Amino acid sequence: MHRVGLFWFNHDLRIDDNIALNFAAAQVDQLLCLYCLPPSSKGIDSTEPSALSRHRLQFLLESLQDLDRSLKSYQQHLLVTYDSGVSAIAQLITQHNITQVFCSTPTGYYEQQQWQVLAQRYRMIGFHAIDNNRLFSLEQLPFELSDLPSSFSKFRRAVESITVPSPALRLASLPPSPASPQTWLAHFPSFEKNKTALFKGGEQSGAAHVSRYFEQELASTYKQTRNGLDGMDYSTKFSPWLANGGLSPRRAIHELRRYEQRVESNDSTYWIYFELLWREYFHRYAQKYGGRLFSFAGISGQRPITSFYPQRFKKWCCGTTPYPIINACMRQLNSTGYLSNRGRQWVASCLVHELAIDWRYGAAYLEQQLVDYDVACNWGNWQYLAGVGADPRGHRRFNLEKQAKTYDLDGAFTARWQGDFSDATLDHVDAADWPIG
Ligand SMILES: Cc1cc2nc3c(=O)[nH]c(=O)nc-3n(C[C@H](O)[C@H](O)[C@H](O)COP(=O)(O)OP(=O)(O)OC[C@H]3O[C@@H](n4cnc5c(N)ncnc54)[C@H](O)[C@@H]3O)c2cc1C
Repeated sequence: MHRVGLFWFNHDLRIDDNIALNFAAAQVDQLLCLYCLPPSSKGIDSTEPSALSRHRLQFLLESLQDLDRSLKSYQQHLLVTYDSGVSAIAQLITQHNITQVFCSTPTGYYEQQQWQVLAQRYRMIGFHAIDNNRLFSLEQLPFELSDLPSSFSKFRRAVESITVPSPALRLASLPPSPASPQTWLAHFPSFEKNKTALFKGGEQSGAAHVSRYFEQELASTYKQTRNGLDGMDYSTKFSPWLANGGLSPRRAIHELRRYEQRVESNDSTYWIYFELLWREYFHRYAQKYGGRLFSFAGISGQRPITSFYPQRFKKWCCGTTPYPIINACMRQLNSTGYLSNRGRQWVASCLVHELAIDWRYGAAYLEQQLVDYDVACNWGNWQYLAGVGADPRGHRRFNLEKQAKTYDLDGAFTARWQGDFSDATLDHVDAADWPIG
């Protein structure tokens, strides 16, 4: 029987160490490579601009172009569509007599649901979701997903000595596509290009970035520098490629181990692994909790005493709050699409504790803005900081003034991003919507 496969690319936009793609390539005679743009990349109607920031769109576009180029070297190409996964795949199944569909196991709840809808609708077709984009396979974990430890520390202790598998061997060949190439570039959402972007999407630039990071021996001091606020060197900056799939976490660990052999292994190099374990934890957490990742009461079941204040939220988004360090962070995020880990913790703490806003508005805003947006890491961290997630302490409120004095002692960061804003009033209307003052 002639076997025609469809590979649904998602957060795995690469050839290197793509075990799901390798698996698909070995199963079929022809293979169609598909990517469905996230629904939020489209405006509400055709005249509306995209809901995603220009930084996110630019990184995504570069990642897709790079993948398309790589596929061409295998006499393949990428189909890119605006349709949802369900409707695009349904059409392609009929059009090309697809017999098998493949993807990397989805992390996000909505992607999981789409996959299940398809698998139930087309029972005569083989659906294969392959665990990919994680350090450990599910089988390697010493517990069932339903028994995922309730805190990161317990998770880390249970998994940190497990050997991370080596990256897969280079893909030798790909079966040809049953479809002819289409021009998708013209339909990509328009955005204002940033010529000085911090990051360039695609697995090639990801690999170049990882090499540069280790060549400069920055890994040896990561633990001391990781709380930096500005610049490329204080942390790895692997996240944009990890989130879009241009870099696999196993490749990142492989390069880290090579560095440890070549240069040194110390507390800092361990700490990079430690942070990647956080990513691992939140990915399994998202898979375990599904839709609860987005619920107000989180996994704790306790609803925070917060609400929605449009004016406060707008000030937070634009960086015009009474808190200079928060303004600097939000302006940095809006200008670059990136924010340090410490900055993310501050802005989340400020939104929840100082502005008393429902944490999900903050998470949704970061989802729009971040070039490294990752459903599990973003919503999992927000739950943690809002006190409804995996934090055994249940409460993280940062003293913003004290933090600014510690981490921005000379005020250079706040000054650079113009955090000092003259209007220190938070609310211009009272609870009954009457103007104040
Ligand atoms: C409110 C909030 C939202 C966040 N949203 C995202 C997001 O959408 N995407 C994302 O990748 N990270 C997110 N993080 C986690 C973290 O801030 C970023 O991973 C990190 O800042 C990325 O920069 P880096 O690659 O230089 O990290 P490094 O400090 O160099 O860490 C190396 C890698 O470890 C992982 N990592 C580090 N810290 C965390 C963490 N706290 N949780 C999960 N993984 C971690 C990332 O994959 C990162 O690339 C969020 C954190 C907070 C507090």
